[in-house]
Amino acid sequence: MVRVLDNMIEYAKNNNIPIMMEDGIEFLTNYIKENNIKTILEIGSAIGYSAIRMASVSDDIYVTTIERDDIRYNEAIKNIKEANLGSQINIIHDDAFNVETDFKFDLIFIDAAKAQYIKFFEKFKNNLNNNGVIVSDNLKFHGLVGTTEYIESRNVRQLVRKLKNYIDFLETNEEFDTTFYDLGDGVAVSRKK
Ligand code: SAH
Ligand code: MG
Repeated sequence: MVRVLDNMIEYAKNNNIPIMMEDGIEFLTNYIKENNIKTILEIGSAIGYSAIRMASVSDDIYVTTIERDDIRYNEAIKNIKEANLGSQINIIHDDAFNVETDFKFDLIFIDAAKAQYIKFFEKFKNNLNNNGVIVSDNLKFHGLVGTTEYIESRNVRQLVRKLKNYIDFLETNEEFDTTFYDLGDGVAVSRKK
């Protein structure tokens, strides 16, 4: 297992794939353990790293994870197989906005296109169990959210603005209480009021 994970970290580094940072993933897996989370929906599998880390917490945890990119999806399939977690991880190859499910999850992990976080949240919030939480990653966007420095790239500026909108959306949300954690690349946990 350690070898599979090390290979994934190496692959992610070489191919610029933004897998979760170590302190972020440690926080998430501890949260799963301490809160007895059993069913997880992940938006954005990439190569399956965080799905494998979450499923490895306990053999009665089930992860459904969605990835739209062909290459990453295929890489994830290979990694899940190598990690022997095929019976705990169900990966869906599609755009998350095409995925419809009535299933209720204990935890929904949003880690996909940063510009769409409000839409992901609204689309999947009804798929939470009572006491379920939505966890969002990359709210600092590599430290760019909250910086006073001028950002050259228009594209990046737009993404930062979208993430700020998302943070506002969470802070003012009538239905959910959110706690922000300054670890990894910025993690939020939102719980239904
Ligand atoms: N959770 C992973 C990293 C995910 S990176 C980990 O920590 O190991 C974000 C991924 O989300 C990318 O691979 C991207 O292709 C995917 N993605 C972005 N928008 C998506 C969408 N609308 N539907 C499905 N996948 C999406
Ligand atoms: Mg992330």
